[in-house]
This record gives sequence, structure tokens and C-alpha cells, in this order.
Amino acid sequence: MSNSLQFKGYALTGKLTYSSASSVHRLTKRRFADLSNWSDLKVIEFKPKNFQPEDIEIAITHCGVCGSDLHTLKQGWGESKLPLIAGHEIVGTVMRVGDKVTEFKPGDRVGVGAQIGACLSCKRCNANYENYCPKQIDTYNAEYPDGVVTQGGYATAIRAHERFVFAIPDNLESRHAASMLCAGLTVFSPLTTNGAGPGKTVGVIGIGGLGHYAVLFAKALGAEVYAFTHDASKVKDIKQMGADHVINTSEQKDFAKGLSGEFDIIISTLDSYSPQTPLADFLSMLVVHGKFITVGLPDANNPLPPIHPFDLMSSGALLGGSHIGSKKECVEMLQLAAKKGVKPWIEELPMKEVGKALRGLGDNKVRYRYVLTQDLV
Ligand SMILES: [Zn+2]
Ligand SMILES: [Zn+2]
Repeated sequence: MSNSLQFKGYALTGKLTYSSASSVHRLTKRRFADLSNWSDLKVIEFKPKNFQPEDIEIAITHCGVCGSDLHTLKQGWGESKLPLIAGHEIVGTVMRVGDKVTEFKPGDRVGVGAQIGACLSCKRCNANYENYCPKQIDTYNAEYPDGVVTQGGYATAIRAHERFVFAIPDNLESRHAASMLCAGLTVFSPLTTNGAGPGKTVGVIGIGGLGHYAVLFAKALGAEVYAFTHDASKVKDIKQMGADHVINTSEQKDFAKGLSGEFDIIISTLDSYSPQTPLADFLSMLVVHGKFITVGLPDANNPLPPIHPFDLMSSGALLGGSHIGSKKECVEMLQLAAKKGVKPWIEELPMKEVGKALRGLGDNKVRYRYVLTQDLV
């Protein structure tokens, strides 16, 4: 048992500055800071969570780079707390456990995803919906009740309550498990919640980090999978991932016509919209009472494109959302991945190249998830 872990990580530091040209969101009246240095992260020491009897201390070995990191560093969802260490696809080794920890011991290989706290006593927490707890705490850019600010996985170490720590199965490599813990879970949860499996047809819109996992997990669950991408350079990859059909939406503009009423579930990973986004066309592709679930979360000033109630009425369509997943679902996902040999498509970089990874993600260069490996210890 070691108490010698140092807590340091790659942080966005400094103060937020607002210019007169800063955009103001029309609904939230939030201002957005101008941050030209958003991907220029510096190593800082930070104060971790105060260690509680239910807590685990983890030496981080891997951390995925998620779109949420980009939105938060760029203040796209509103003002972030600086200094900010992002990263919430964390895998590492247990170094220390509190007296009340029952599930883990030092030496175990474990992970932490996008959520690090919840009340654990409300109806939702008690029903294994802690990911919808009104008091849920994000892994970074949030605050514990005692005022300690949460910091993420571009770091040497993290402390977490055991409810938010997941055992990594032996035959799943750490570099493969890391990005499952946010990107994988974010699509696995709505797939299983909405019945993806044999005999069902699943559509996946947008094949980046989340979308590629939606293809992999929908196939692992036994569904027939259509992938929709506007990027011709990804078509071959997506077929290799196992998609049964790939639709290039920039070439096949009238794609919805031949697919009317075909899909039980459509998972949309789009994380920016324009008035031209063909949402009504996607809704027209659902079976009766089919579900369109959005998991991508655009900037606060970028709402869904307008749709008319007719677009929902014609097939009794259900339009919904989903927020990461619960521990129960994460355990199921990791077991399925281990059993079926699900392997994400990743590019590994040393943690000091986090800025390059963030910019590559922003420029849609990533194929299909960056995973950072520890270089600070
Ligand atoms: Zn994430
Ligand atoms: Zn709760």
C-alpha cells in the first residue's frame, strides 16, 4: 500500500478572457470566452478529492481523449473552472483502498469514466440510474460537496468512490478498455436500453469515436447495422468494423427514401447541427414506435434543427436522449467486449502529446479514438 502518489496532470491554466465579440447564447445568456490557447496544456500539481473510506486511489496508465474534453476546454458548454485537467476515459492500477472498499484491492486493473459522483441515495441511484442522479458529479470541471474541484485523467492519478470504479476483465487490454468507459458506454447504454439485438435494425449516424463504438457494440449485440457518414474516406473502415451497410450521405442525398420505416433504433452521435441537418429524413426511417436517440452533445448555442410534429406523428416516432451509462451497464459492456473480442480502433500517443490529440479530434483526423499513455511518472 502506497501513499506516495503524486497528483499532477496536463491542465489548461490561466484566466478566462471575454472580448466584446464573445458570442452570447440566446437561451442561456451565457457568454463564451475566447481561448486561443485551449489545447496548450501545462503540467500542474493539483489537490485530489479528500480520501474517504469508500475511496480508491488509482495510478493512471491510459486515458482516452473524448469530444467532451474538447467542448469543455473550448468553453463550448459554458464557463469552465480553471485550472482544468480534462480526460474521463481512465484506466490504471489500484494503489490504495479505503477501509470500507469491498470490491477492489491494490494491484487491480480498473477504470473510471465520465462520472465520479452521485448522491447514491435517491430513487434514481437506487434503481441503477446513478447516471441520471440530479446530484451527479462529472469526473472533471465539477465540484464535490466540500468544494474540491474534480480533475480528470490527463494526470498521474485519481481518487474515486468505488461505485464509480470499474473492474477491467483480464482479457481486455487497458488501451482498448480506456475509451470504452465514456465513448463505448455512451452508445452501449441506449443500444441495450432500447432493445438492440438479433432481429433488430440499428442505424448509426456519424462515425467518429462514439459512432464507431455504436457499430461495434450493435454488431456484438447481434443487430443488423447501417452506418451513415458524410466522409467518403471512412467507408472502407466502417465496413471493416462490421457494419452491414454504409451510406455516404454526401453522395446519396436521397438516402432516406429507400429506407423509410426500416429502423428500430437510430443512434445519432452528431455533435453539431445546422438547419440543413436532415433530422426529419432520419425520423422517417424509423419503424412504428421506433426510437431516435441522440448521444452527441453540441455546444450550448447549437440546438437541434427545427422539426415539425408531423415528422414524429407519421410513425409514432420517439425522439430521445441518453447520458453515459450506469455502473451496471458498464460492467455488462466490458463483459460483452471481453467475450466477443470487441476492439476499438485507436491511436496511441504519449500523454505529453495531448494537445496534438485534441487538435486532431477537433479537425476530424482521428481514426477513431486517441488514447494517451502515461509519461508523467
Ligand atoms: Zn466522454
Ligand atoms: Zn442520486
